[in-house]
Formats: sequence, C-alpha cells, structure tokens
Amino acid sequence: MALMITEDCTNCDACVEPCPNDAITAGDDIYVIDAFKCTECVGAEDEPQCMLVCPADCIVPNPEFEESEDELMAKYESLH
Ligand code: SF4
Ligand code: SF4
Repeated sequence: MALMITEDCTNCDACVEPCPNDAITAGDDIYVIDAFKCTECVGAEDEPQCMLVCPADCIVPNPEFEESEDELMAKYESLH
C-alpha cells in the first residue's frame, strides 16, 4: 500500500530527495505523499526510504491504498 504523512510532520524536507518516485511534495500545512506515485519504494529500494530519514516518524501506511507487491511493482514500472 502507499504510505501517507500524518499531522506530526515538521516540514523538515528530509524525505523529498530520497523518494525514487518524486511522490513527496510540500503541501499547505504538512508534506504530502501522492498515493498514485508511492510504491513503498518497491522497484527501487528494499524499504521505504522516506521512513528511514523522517525524524518525526510520521510516515505510515495509507489504509485507503491496499496494494499487493505485484501491483506496487506495476505502478513503479508505469512511472519510469
Ligand atoms: S515509500 Fe518510497 S516511493 Fe513511497 S513516498 Fe516514501 S520514498 Fe517515495
Ligand atoms: S521527513 Fe518527515 S517530518 Fe520531514 S517533511 Fe518528510 S514527513 Fe515531514
């Protein structure tokens, strides 16, 4: 499933550059993940790079985007 950013985000910008899909941008109040671009880093990395760098631990699974590994890989391939 895609990931999402909670209101605990401190707008530090650390997660933007590591995202292989350019899925993270600054929103009006907090940073946001485009669920149609987030593959949980499937296709590019072994684990979600944004979660690794986020100092606020505010990146969590998005329950509205249940996806299998195969679906995440297909999403990745459609983006690149
Ligand atoms: S899990 Fe990976 S693809 Fe998804 S937003 Fe984080 S860095 Fe980007
Ligand atoms: S790394 Fe975490 S706290 Fe920093 S902008 Fe990204 S989601 Fe927000």
